Amino acid sequence: MQPRPRATVLVALLVAAAPLLAGCGRSTGAAADGKVSVVTSFYPLQYVAQRIVGDHADVTGLTKPGVEPHDLDLPPRQAAQISGADVVLLEKGLQPAVDQAVANDSPKRVVDAAKVVTLRASDEGKGQDPHFWLDPTLLALVAQKFTAAISQADPAHKADYRAANDKLQTDLTDLDGMFRDGVAQCRSRALVVSHDAFNYLGERYDLTVHPIAGLSPDAEPSPRHLKQLGDLIRSDKITTVFSERLASPKLADTLASDLHVRTAVLDPIEGLTSSDSSSDYLSLMKDNLAAIEKAGGCR
Ligand SMILES: [Zn+2]
Repeated sequence: MQPRPRATVLVALLVAAAPLLAGCGRSTGAAADGKVSVVTSFYPLQYVAQRIVGDHADVTGLTKPGVEPHDLDLPPRQAAQISGADVVLLEKGLQPAVDQAVANDSPKRVVDAAKVVTLRASDEGKGQDPHFWLDPTLLALVAQKFTAAISQADPAHKADYRAANDKLQTDLTDLDGMFRDGVAQCRSRALVVSHDAFNYLGERYDLTVHPIAGLSPDAEPSPRHLKQLGDLIRSDKITTVFSERLASPKLADTLASDLHVRTAVLDPIEGLTSSDSSSDYLSLMKDNLAAIEKAGGCR
């Protein structure tokens, strides 16, 4: 609590400033610690922002670890963080609540990954497939665009942002090279995965992706679809059904045990689980590569 006299002054100031503050809602942002503030909507974008800003800016992730980002619920307090941000990095279309908050608050600078990357049409025929970050070369494009935006918001640290982006670009190029080499010679190029997140990865590295569920992890497969997958697993001698960390492995487990094949984790990297804080985008992508190599007999 403030001592009473100061509090009185503060109240007087707030009353005087009320017309200025109304409708602005600047509860967070540059003011707090002098740093610029960045809000990101889900993990891969948060990773990009953190890599580039280092200690120069505060990065807030709207999707907390352990939460599946599709159809995120956004409490008003979090929505308010958007209006206070110097840069918002999001992907329109993936999280309607975030899109709505951005539309309401019109923050100063918005980098929309869906405008940076050419999104592919979804296999379900409705809308677009949001999972571009599983192609590292596409995430690199978003990093370029974000670097430009944060450099505008905070020109004093422009050189550092550029250097950090150069380093990230190198890491993503190296990762891309590892994938190309790793899957160059596989006995099977078919991936059976739990939800339809891996088409960008499949397209980039010439792998055929067969999802159990749809674009969103909670989309239920039909019995007919499950039968087709079973036939494919038998005829192509597929060794592994992939599940993921944030969504239930039940479907993948059932399918795998029915067909006497293994299960393994292939992570769509939509978010970190609370327990894997030592993991990051790069390490999870390398885990994915190892899992694909093992399942496909690529080594
Ligand atoms: Zn997804």
